[in-house]
Amino acid sequence: MRPGTMKSLCLLGASGSIGQSTLKLVDQHPDRFRITAMSAHTQIDALIDLCRRYRPLQACIADSSLFTALRDGLRAEGLATTPLAGSEGLQDMAADNRSDTVIAAIVGAAGVASTFSAARAGKRILLANKESIVLAGQLLMQTVAEYGAQLFPVDSEHNAIFQCLPAHGGRAGVRRLILTASGGPFLGKTRAELATITPEQACRHPKWSMGRKISVDSATLMNKGLEVIEAHHLFGMPAEAIEVVVHPQSIVHSMVDYCDGSVLAQMGEPDMRTAIAYGLSYPERIDSGVKTLDFRTLGRLEFQTPDTETFPCLSLAYTAIGRGGNAPAVLNAANEVAVMAFLEGRLPFLAIPDIVAQTLDALAWEPAEDLAVLMASDAEARRYANNRIH
Ligand code: NAD
Ligand code: MG
Repeated sequence: MRPGTMKSLCLLGASGSIGQSTLKLVDQHPDRFRITAMSAHTQIDALIDLCRRYRPLQACIADSSLFTALRDGLRAEGLATTPLAGSEGLQDMAADNRSDTVIAAIVGAAGVASTFSAARAGKRILLANKESIVLAGQLLMQTVAEYGAQLFPVDSEHNAIFQCLPAHGGRAGVRRLILTASGGPFLGKTRAELATITPEQACRHPKWSMGRKISVDSATLMNKGLEVIEAHHLFGMPAEAIEVVVHPQSIVHSMVDYCDGSVLAQMGEPDMRTAIAYGLSYPERIDSGVKTLDFRTLGRLEFQTPDTETFPCLSLAYTAIGRGGNAPAVLNAANEVAVMAFLEGRLPFLAIPDIVAQTLDALAWEPAEDLAVLMASDAEARRYANNRIH
């Protein structure tokens, strides 16, 4: 290994599914990566335990009411880790110059401020928090460019597209981006069959093991809708040139269609460590611990058109891109509220798209030029969606 290639990682959302996959890669490559900072939302014991194992310089508990517990817990362990709390703590950590790489793996719009903070500090950002780019895609891309930050998509589809696009970065010859969708746990079901779905059923994804919010998003197809918006901003492609195809085996992670008839696909086992490893080591490749594909036993790879009658969330995302401005922020906020209500047993599964559609239609259009305006739209959409649910 070349000297000076040790990367210092700020891991936002360390206690989550992406956080844990990142830590497995750190464990595998202690000579390449060290954790300088980590955060969790409310999981104080898990965070202190992670500090004991990784000895970061800083740790942040996003729920500020737990600051004293974190401080005392670190002290009791005899750890020199500096305790931080709240959104300010997350933002300070993301900007701290003792880390060069920020893994944005917080779920939801709660991750927006720290993602922007990392961008303004010119960091290498591994973006798992897709809600940041859905809410404020145009501004985030501008901020990344303005401050010389680098954005690496960790979402498996966008990571696949990143790998299949021309290496020189241009879009010449690119005809379409084709995002694959597993179809989620309810592929092939009718609306009638979905009426009584429980959170446990929705979170039982056939191919991927993920946090609860994204699992529900996968079940409604909103995850793919958010990913279309994400791809639109990340790769500067119009919505008409972004197509979604259902691929239940989740082996082809996405594709780029070129004007000469070539289609490039990235394939692999459904394991997020591949995408995270590529973002961590780019332009090099490192061992991720993900097993290699065995084409002799793989069997069939199938592709089909998404059922947007049963799963209207995908169409709602295209509507939001078409409207532009604050519409994607409103879509995202209403969805977060509806998914939370569903997970807490306060809203039926089929009502999730209804709440999103009603909120999208009710709120006034605003331009997307200012983060404060977008955050205000986010808050207003949350209020509106919550009122509809009550
Ligand atoms: P998760 O629920 O497993 O973990 C979320 C993390 O965010 C946890 O560390 C939690 O403590 C923290 N968090 C939650 N609410 C917070 C708040 N209000 N403030 C600060 N921190 C908070 O979720 P996940 O599956 O790891 O997903 C994280 C992000 O990555 C999401 O945006 C998701 O869409 C995206 N993503 C995940 C996967 C996957 O395979 N898990 C794949 C692609 C994209
Ligand atoms: Mg994805």
